[in-house]
Amino acid sequence: DVCRMSVGSETRPLGEITVERRGAGEDAHDLTPFARCAELIHRLQAGYVDGLTGLYNRRRLDMEIAKLNVSDGHVAVAMLDIDHFKRVNDTYGHDAGDAVLREFASRLIEDLPEDGFIARYGGEEFCIILQRDDEESAAGILDRIRLSASIRPIVFKKYEIRITSSAGMSTGPGRRADDLLMQADRALYAAKEGGRDRLIRSSDLFRRGASGL
Ligand code: GH3
Ligand code: MG
Ligand code: MG
Repeated sequence: DVCRMSVGSETRPLGEITVERRGAGEDAHDLTPFARCAELIHRLQAGYVDGLTGLYNRRRLDMEIAKLNVSDGHVAVAMLDIDHFKRVNDTYGHDAGDAVLREFASRLIEDLPEDGFIARYGGEEFCIILQRDDEESAAGILDRIRLSASIRPIVFKKYEIRITSSAGMSTGPGRRADDLLMQADRALYAAKEGGRDRLIRSSDLFRRGASGL
């Protein structure tokens, strides 16, 4: 008479829901309410979770941005993209590429602060949102996450696959989250242009732009 369900994904467990039947009546052995509850949770999870990595998906990210748009806090938004990922597919095959994405995603989440948010934006791109307004500390956290995800090679069958990643970040009020995401994306582009395997802050771009560099 007890139904337990884990909520969240494998890499980001959110908790457990327990539904317990109280009292006895004619319907005491009817499991329909439990089945309905389980089905609802399953559908909710499936709609917001990326099937390959178990991270939140783009749809859930859009929801997070919408929530930030009406919030008062300051955040750091980062876009992170695996470098030369196409080469992984081309060299080791698509299955290896999938395995790298799964392992990379679970490494990212290992170092994410409790109040941090991460989603797979698409392909080999991830979006991280930190509840921090201090650019220096946000950059420190993000770069640690980025680097520790590539410090060890990813083992797939007989291969040891080494990867790096590039990131762009931007800080500001949560209600400007859309802009912050756009700026983070521009900074990511600059990180790629600058030689990859690095984090670039969007404020660095402004400074460079202003000084004509
Ligand atoms: P850059 O350093 O400029 O980011 O180069 P890149 O090769 O990482 O970027 P590009 O956009 O050229 O290639 C991304 C590749 O990611 C192409 C696509 O086939 C692959 N990809 C996207 N999603 C998946 C996936 O779910 N599984 C696998 N195995 N590959 C994927
Ligand atoms: Mg890439
Ligand atoms: Mg990409």
